[in-house]
Amino acid sequence: MEYKKPKGTRDILPNNYAVWQLMEAKAKDVAGRFNYAQIRTPTFEDASLFLRSVGDSSDIVNKEMYIFKDRGDRVMALRPEGTAGVVRAVVENGLLNEALPLKLFYFANCFRYENPQAGRYRELSQFGVECFGTQSPNADVELILLGKSFLESIGIKNTTLQINSIGCKTCRAKYNQAMRDFAKENNNQLCPDCKRRAEQNPLRMLDCKNTDCQKILQNAPKLKDYLCDECNQHFAEVLKGLDTLGVEYEIVDTLVRGLDYYTKTVFEFENEVDGKKMAVGGGGRYDDLVAEISGKSCPALGFACGLDRLESLVDKNLIQNKPLALIVNAGQVSTAQVLPIAQKIRNLGYNVECNLAERSFSAQMKYANKINADFVFIVGDEEIQNGTITIKNLKTGEQTTKKL
Ligand code: AMP
Repeated sequence: MEYKKPKGTRDILPNNYAVWQLMEAKAKDVAGRFNYAQIRTPTFEDASLFLRSVGDSSDIVNKEMYIFKDRGDRVMALRPEGTAGVVRAVVENGLLNEALPLKLFYFANCFRYENPQAGRYRELSQFGVECFGTQSPNADVELILLGKSFLESIGIKNTTLQINSIGCKTCRAKYNQAMRDFAKENNNQLCPDCKRRAEQNPLRMLDCKNTDCQKILQNAPKLKDYLCDECNQHFAEVLKGLDTLGVEYEIVDTLVRGLDYYTKTVFEFENEVDGKKMAVGGGGRYDDLVAEISGKSCPALGFACGLDRLESLVDKNLIQNKPLALIVNAGQVSTAQVLPIAQKIRNLGYNVECNLAERSFSAQMKYANKINADFVFIVGDEEIQNGTITIKNLKTGEQTTKKL
């Protein structure tokens, strides 16, 4: 049998890994500058954690979750997103009793049983950040700035920031009722999913991909007409903060995002990936989620970027490779004899390879070109006798002999 990778998954091969290392290094660097600390949580959790948080009316939970019974009959799920696990970890480990705001970042592989296509995979990698313990609109502004700074740090240009406010529980209740009434009036024309959404979570109707529904929903009640004073003021302050920082945005009043836990601010970063506009990152506030999971209320917000979608947009000129040297053993000198020398050179900060394939001198020189080495360090009988090495710079052809 010839094995193939599972549908919708990817092999990130060594020739492309420098891009991933750059994304991860820059993400860590930028998160660090905003004083976010790293956290890692399990790849799978109790399935009910996602049902309660991401929401059983969302496509992610309803249609796309990898859910299974383990050998102890527990119903588990591969995480479809990063936030729920982080909230669970923060509550379980009592981190909310420490200094607030608590600011955390993570890298997580997430799993969604989606229809695979360009930029849409069944296993996806996210860089995410979460901030707990503040209601301030300035936290929303800083979060967006963090996302933007990360995208800029990997050389991504032409990102559009789309933003909206979906309100709090109070204003949402009124909006949901208006949407239910609207759905009743237009019931015959709505797709089966929207009929279900109208019952479970009417807000989700705005996210329907069905073109007929989209047309009908153009006349649906607008969220912004239902926001309470506090939500209106919060949104105005977020926009003012972005204006002050010169961060451009587009208000999109149908932007609701695919997860049920959001409140107030929601946003997405959009770029053209392989000729198609798509979200490269997104997030928002989720002021009720901690209470939903733990019973203890704590305002919070966060976002995640999809690294798979960013991969092709990264500016490759930002990748800095360390010089690579091949230690070539010549004459009677064996590979075993050069291993200690290789170690010394590694300690100087070079990437060093030795003649592990036991090639002849000329085959080693050919191999050095094949692996695109910057230098060969030749160690032959004479060099051993004099305590020297001969250094050839393969880029300039220059050759010198140095004391070891
Ligand atoms: P979400 O967790 O849905 O808020 O998504 C956050 C980001 O993850 C999105 O903006 C995308 O960049 C990325 N993403 C979401 N779903 C997928 C997928 N199926 N394949 C690749 N990237 C994805």
